[in-house]
Amino acid sequence: MKKKSIGIVGGGLSGLVAAIHLSRNNFPVTVFEKDSYPNHKVCGEYVSIEIVPYLKQLDINLSDLKPALIDKLQFSDVTGKTVNTKLPLGGLGISRYALDEFLYLKALASGVNFIHALVTDVTYTNDEFAITTNKNEPFEFKIVLGAYGKRSLLDKKLDRQFIDQKSGWLAIKGHYKKDGFPDNLVMLHNFKGGYCGLSKTETGAINVCYLASYNSFKKHKDPVNFKNEVLMQNPHLRDFFQEATPLFEKNLSIAQISFDKKSSIQDHILMLGDAAGLIHPLSGNGMAMAIHSAKIASEVILKYYENETYTREAMEKEYEKNWKEQFSSRLRMGNILQNILLNPQLSNIVQKIISSFPSLLPKIISKTHGNPIL
Ligand SMILES: Cc1cc2nc3c(=O)[nH]c(=O)nc-3n(C[C@H](O)[C@H](O)[C@H](O)COP(=O)(O)OP(=O)(O)OC[C@H]3O[C@@H](n4cnc5c(N)ncnc54)[C@H](O)[C@@H]3O)c2cc1C
Repeated sequence: MKKKSIGIVGGGLSGLVAAIHLSRNNFPVTVFEKDSYPNHKVCGEYVSIEIVPYLKQLDINLSDLKPALIDKLQFSDVTGKTVNTKLPLGGLGISRYALDEFLYLKALASGVNFIHALVTDVTYTNDEFAITTNKNEPFEFKIVLGAYGKRSLLDKKLDRQFIDQKSGWLAIKGHYKKDGFPDNLVMLHNFKGGYCGLSKTETGAINVCYLASYNSFKKHKDPVNFKNEVLMQNPHLRDFFQEATPLFEKNLSIAQISFDKKSSIQDHILMLGDAAGLIHPLSGNGMAMAIHSAKIASEVILKYYENETYTREAMEKEYEKNWKEQFSSRLRMGNILQNILLNPQLSNIVQKIISSFPSLLPKIISKTHGNPIL
């Protein structure tokens, strides 16, 4: 009989959804999360609607949060030349402040155990894992999920390849108030060295989040100069920042964002969400991928326990295969699009093609998204 005990490192989107999925199937689940809830996170806060059917199956109704319903995209190049289009699937505008806490409360209600501590190590010996934190004695588990996001000291401990590569991206996010900003619109405006997404959240606040290459940022020294001297060269961003009122005392920022290839299994840990691979944010699909990866992992874990002859090795292989089938081509497409956007000549050519054939844009967007998850 396989011992039922599951440890999840990280209580963000993928960790919380996996915890809910597994605990609803009567598994004892412990989530290790270093931060408390709620808190703001650097994110575009546009979540693809593809996740809605799956979450409903878990009795998670995002409509309870009254999200903004987004079905239109406005896209502009660095000069402000604009293309408007309808989004193929559309999405929801929800702050991470509300979404992560909502899932946390659902997880608590389904009996998930939370340990608020920083995981410092995960080791695997004799078919068991030991999770060590900065506060507690090691905990033992039969299965461990790595749901700790883009980058963690654990990646160094686990000797993951991408962690030693230089990653030259940073991101800044804040909430703003501005009258007349449509509820159903997500804007993606380019500037030299990056792009900025703007869309409404459930509170009516407009989330503004941009990704910039460190090389373009460093010349300007701080975010205020960078905003004034670079972002505001795009007339859409200039108009926005001139009229909008910031709602945060200080914007949030993160650096060292890596889009390098990662493994979906590492030292027998099933990696979820960004810990398995981060898609370029311009696609607006990272949250959906994180949630979908929680479903794929939960399903192979259920199979592992239902079937005595289904080995750990078989479970890992199936997870890796399913992960690749779902996400590899999206990641590739996200990569291609990001390279085009950040190359002024290519971006100009593509912008001209899209302006002449606007119906191409929704087709390109669908390539970075999945189908509704059933
Ligand atoms: C600039 C930017 C904009 C984005 N915009 C969008 C968007 O608009 N739409 C979209 O769909 N996606 C977007 N994404 C991607 C999206 O934010 C991620 O894909 C998603 O949050 C991944 O979820 P996750 O569960 O993997 O990680 P997270 O949600 O980041 O959760 C990881 C959790 O692990 C915890 N943790 C980390 N290390 C440890 C440790 N050692 N011990 C204990 N806890 C730990 C963290 O505190 C955190 O709560 C964006 C990403 C970036 C960088």
